[in-house]
Amino acid sequence: MKRAIRDSGTLCEAVGLSDSNDSARKIGGENQFPTFVPLEFLGRLNPGDPADPLLRQVLPVTQEDENADPRFVTDPVGDQASMVASGLMHKYNGRTLMITTGACGVHCRYCFRREFPYSENRAHDWTPALEYIRANPTIDEVILSGGDPLTLVDTKLFDLFTHIESIDHVRRLRIHSRMPVVIPQRVTADLIDRLDQSRLAVWMVIHANHAAELDTLVLDRIDAMIRGGITVLNQAVLLRGINDNADALTELCEKLINAQVMPYYLHQLDRVRGAAHFEVPTQRGLELIEVLRQRLPGYAVPQYVTEQAGEPSKSPVGQVLSKSKVL
Ligand SMILES: *Cc1c(COP(=O)(O)O)cnc(C)c1O
Ligand code: SF4
Repeated sequence: MKRAIRDSGTLCEAVGLSDSNDSARKIGGENQFPTFVPLEFLGRLNPGDPADPLLRQVLPVTQEDENADPRFVTDPVGDQASMVASGLMHKYNGRTLMITTGACGVHCRYCFRREFPYSENRAHDWTPALEYIRANPTIDEVILSGGDPLTLVDTKLFDLFTHIESIDHVRRLRIHSRMPVVIPQRVTADLIDRLDQSRLAVWMVIHANHAAELDTLVLDRIDAMIRGGITVLNQAVLLRGINDNADALTELCEKLINAQVMPYYLHQLDRVRGAAHFEVPTQRGLELIEVLRQRLPGYAVPQYVTEQAGEPSKSPVGQVLSKSKVL
């Protein structure tokens, strides 16, 4: 992470795009949410290709500054309203989500937490969050999120695992991380061994949007996790100009299932300020899912979902539920 690229000019240079390229100019969006691209990810980009689907995920562009659409806001999914303790969100039945850190192994330009006030909401001390979970026997799953929990050092992370394991009614640990994809070296034998030894059922949700992200080293680390007893799922975001075509999604899902990773969710973009240019109309998304259904085994077709503030679960696109309709 120390060696990562931290400005768009250097990023353009590194992939052989000239400084005269529009996107190389510093833009407002980059001040709110700086460029951050690790060299391990950079190596998977196509040099000289401004339309590269991996580059588009990480390179700030001037469209981020065009805030004309008022439906794109700073907290699109109502995260703030579901904070129950410092660093802890409790939105859905049985599951709590811990904001373990504000740091990520990469900065994704479409991120729904690109303006999340981490300094106010991240847990500096786990105690209140753990006490909340301990006092709520209905919680059987703890989700580690962020930011990216795998940016924490092992001592902190393992300490947190131990605290969670000490709460009897918690049965499952879920880790949402983009590190296995962006810096796969983070998935060390030590980490896998520690999770293998846990009494908890361990689920790892990785985050790849395009097949080109899944190179040999990523696939090797996925294999190691599976051998270590971890169930691995993938979630992706439907992104204009990146994966909004049937071939790209088919290739992604095929590569995942060949690696024994279940394509879990395809997310409709959350309407966060600065990301409007990534939005794909839901009608188009539904058509793409239909093509996947025709081409792939049923288990390879992700659930196409959207997150609506105040809803009791993620909602399947096309049939947004409301609280009153559930039970
Ligand atoms: C998405 C999310 C979860 C997990 O939802 P699943 O549908 O079980 O993957 C839990 N808590 C919060 C706050 C979430 O945003
Ligand atoms: S890794 Fe996840 S939380 Fe971090 S910037 Fe990317 S999408 Fe956002």
